Amino acid sequence: MNVFSHPEFDNHEHLSFFCDAQTGLRSIVAIHNSSRGPALGGCRMFPYASDEQALRDVLRLSRGMTYKSALANLDLGGGKSVIIGDPRKHKTDAMLEAMGRHLESLGGQYIAAEDSGTSVADLKVMGRHTRHVAGIAPRTGFDGNPSNGDPSPATAYGTFIGLKAAVRHRLGRDDLNGLKVAIQGIGNVGFRLARHLADAGAELWVHDIHEDNLRRAIDELGARPAAAEDILTLPVDVVAPCAMGAVLNDTSIPAIRAGIIAGAANNLLERPEHDAMLRQHDILYAPDFAINAGGIIDVFYERTGASPDQVRRHVDTIGETLAEIFSRSEKSGLPTGAIANELAEERFSKHIAGAGLAPQRWARAG
Ligand code: NAD
Repeated sequence: MNVFSHPEFDNHEHLSFFCDAQTGLRSIVAIHNSSRGPALGGCRMFPYASDEQALRDVLRLSRGMTYKSALANLDLGGGKSVIIGDPRKHKTDAMLEAMGRHLESLGGQYIAAEDSGTSVADLKVMGRHTRHVAGIAPRTGFDGNPSNGDPSPATAYGTFIGLKAAVRHRLGRDDLNGLKVAIQGIGNVGFRLARHLADAGAELWVHDIHEDNLRRAIDELGARPAAAEDILTLPVDVVAPCAMGAVLNDTSIPAIRAGIIAGAANNLLERPEHDAMLRQHDILYAPDFAINAGGIIDVFYERTGASPDQVRRHVDTIGETLAEIFSRSEKSGLPTGAIANELAEERFSKHIAGAGLAPQRWARAG
């Protein structure tokens, strides 16, 4: 397995491979770039089929965090960690504690938060041995409701704000009443996004692989169920993928009938060229790492301290960032994902120059 010559390596500053035989922990921590601050990103637990798959995932996700935080104007670097294993079968407190000890040994260069396969409770177990975990502190959330530290409500709200910016740009309207939206995946983020949309009068179609999640959206929000094979291609105004990545690909894009894609899932494009393909099909794509930044904004303020209103105002800037991306894309003819990368790099460089720092070389994402 190549590391320094790995196609996704992109001059990562730091990689550590950690094995704890007693608990079965095998993990990789990746820090892409810490020029803007400590690297903050989720700790994902997944039953990767190979070490190579785990390495590829952590490298891509970690680089993505550098771009996400820079685009959201946060003083954070980009990093991510993965634990190899099935969270439903292999996760134990002892394993999470071993992960906590490993995080502590890194001295705060990397701070872990929740991700797919890990929860607030899991991060708290890691936190028995380290201060370098985030998204765990009970406080008043950005919306004035009690929060246990889970970033999902802020991610959902930011996605709602971003979706509204896309609707304004494409359809020239602020009123979402009667807007037709299809949501793929109505878990932590998708359900909350659905509730914002339902409150604003949107008509919803939903699909989820878990029947209980589907039922909740139907019963509580009046959403209509759609089949797995139809959810992305329904004749709606907006498709919001909130489940897994790589759903925008050679097969799905030509079949999509909505004019807008605005959802929270990470790594939505199967390959970088799907960015241009969406534009060719006249689909306005809200880049994933721009629209789903609400969670990282929320977690950032958990560490630095801020009023709920300050957090909300920062999450609201996702709408302005997307409006700028859409308008630059229209003027330049370049796809929105490429513009989002460009804007992230501009914000990164401006910050570094302003702070008089020498940046690490930083290659274009995607
Ligand atoms: P989650 O696990 O709570 O929800 C995902 C939902 O998708 C689940 O209900 C699951 O049953 C469903 N699902 C899985 N595969 C599916 C499929 N093939 N078709 C339909 N539904 C399917 O996760 P989440 O926290 O809501 O995150 C959703 C997405 O948003 C993920 O891609 C995540 O990486 C991304 N994201 C989340 C946050 C956050 O704060 N939680 C922040 C940024 C990005």
